[in-house]
Amino acid sequence: MVFVRVFCYSAVTSTIARMARRQPPTLRPFAPPRLVIFGVPGSGKGTQAELVARRYGVRHISTGTILRSEISRRTVLGQRARRYLAAGKLVPDSVTNALVAKHLRTATVRRRGFILDGYPRTRRQLNALERMGGVTLAVEIALTDAAAVHRISGRQNCVCGASYHAAYHPPKRPGGCDRCGRRLFTRDDDRPGPVRRRIRIYHRQTAPHVRHYRRHGVLVTVDGQPAIAEVFSSLVGRLRRVGWRAHRV
Ligand code: ADP
Ligand code: ZN
Repeated sequence: MVFVRVFCYSAVTSTIARMARRQPPTLRPFAPPRLVIFGVPGSGKGTQAELVARRYGVRHISTGTILRSEISRRTVLGQRARRYLAAGKLVPDSVTNALVAKHLRTATVRRRGFILDGYPRTRRQLNALERMGGVTLAVEIALTDAAAVHRISGRQNCVCGASYHAAYHPPKRPGGCDRCGRRLFTRDDDRPGPVRRRIRIYHRQTAPHVRHYRRHGVLVTVDGQPAIAEVFSSLVGRLRRVGWRAHRV
């Protein structure tokens, strides 16, 4: 039994690596893709966004990762954002809007396109994003709150943005990041109180935007319950099906 479990986990890890390496990109829009990804905290949206970025060559812009990096570098922005993150509250819109505007202006993002992860979370952010050119496709990773809470309880993160899970996606070396070698940590906001708050905020403030994109016919929803590689392959299948057309909306 132990053997079978170990085998399954490493099989999953190598499948993910294989999938992410597969080139060239199958998605070749006329204009660079502009994607957003939604999901309740713990749904695996960051992991899926990373895989999408590697596979399709777009930039992964995670507002949470950027903010955590600012905090660890003790920048002015980081000092301002720290207490919001620790409590599981949203950072003020003025801060996140400016942050995203700055990232969307870079030459690489303009050339290659992007997948935004963790933004827009509020009505004001949605409006700001529309003013920055909007998106061509939105992805929703669907998962129940209970499953999300369960997943968060085994999660470990790296300041570089990589995220791991003790059972579902363990690092090769315990406690160390596969990508950059730095020490993994447990996020302050992954404690039960902040987790509950983040989930509540998601349903109240962010879920309406998912419905907004659905109404505009640019939403793809995938079931986030299966293993990482399986979720990713159904996402790839869905993206292929909407393919070019979705990127010319
Ligand atoms: P999760 O989706 O698991 O909650 P993220 O890494 O996306 O994790 O976000 C972590 C925290 O970063 C949020 O709880 C919030 O404090 C802050 N944050 C990230 N993105 C935004 C945003 N768009 N607006 C306001 N705060 C944000
Ligand atoms: Zn790392």
